Amino acid sequence: MARRDEIECWLTDMDGVLVHENQALPGAAELLQEWTDTGTPFLVLTNNSIYTPRDLSARLRSSGLNVPEDRIWTSALATADFMQAQLPGGTAFVIGEMGITTALHEAGFTMTETNPDFVVVGETRNYSFEAITKAIRLILGGARFIATNPDATGPSADGPMPATGAIAALITKATGMEPYIVGKPNPMMFRSAMNKIGAHSENTAMIGDRMDTDIVAGIEAGLHTILVMTGISDDAEIARYPFRPDEILAGVHELLSTDLIESDEI
Ligand SMILES: [Mg+2]
Repeated sequence: MARRDEIECWLTDMDGVLVHENQALPGAAELLQEWTDTGTPFLVLTNNSIYTPRDLSARLRSSGLNVPEDRIWTSALATADFMQAQLPGGTAFVIGEMGITTALHEAGFTMTETNPDFVVVGETRNYSFEAITKAIRLILGGARFIATNPDATGPSADGPMPATGAIAALITKATGMEPYIVGKPNPMMFRSAMNKIGAHSENTAMIGDRMDTDIVAGIEAGLHTILVMTGISDDAEIARYPFRPDEILAGVHELLSTDLIESDEI
């Protein structure tokens, strides 16, 4: 595993690392600018499968963060990448929004309600009983069951909302079938991200705010792992796990090269 000074490529989680409730976190804009200026390969990762990279790029820009759409890797893109490798030119019935439907279209998939190869569940705010019923019957009929991400809830200003994992659980209960889940903590999400930017695990780091997704998947993918404390983790949370990240930082501002120089001089 690489030391920090051997890192050439960076993967970073988005929520709790770069932004929190649409507010840029300290140092995030500067770190992204530094990577861009130095031509450092990087990708911003999110398990959120609602939005397309273009939508997310616009949302980040409104928070003051400049991330081009080709620097964003979502669980929807990773899912489409995985499905294309499994069955090029296949068909799918999708419960989800533009993030997953656009990714599947661009990966050469056809959407159908008739005898699809796959049933794909992504995140949406418009669940329909009819669509869930259809998904259940198609899975019982032999379609392969895929979910973009395992998150049971997602954050909102008013409190948690049911997310992909909760709806997938409903379908699992009705069918007895578990989905294959592509997003974090499946390290496949990191491997497909590294493929996209030509990165190798020996000199790639992963920055995240969650021990149970970002850090465990980073360790399993063989990456240098950095936990930042700007998201959900605190010392008690870290202590619950039998593994540790390579580094624990207060926030991404500690990764700026100016901070590195200062700490080297001490
Ligand atoms: Mg996060």
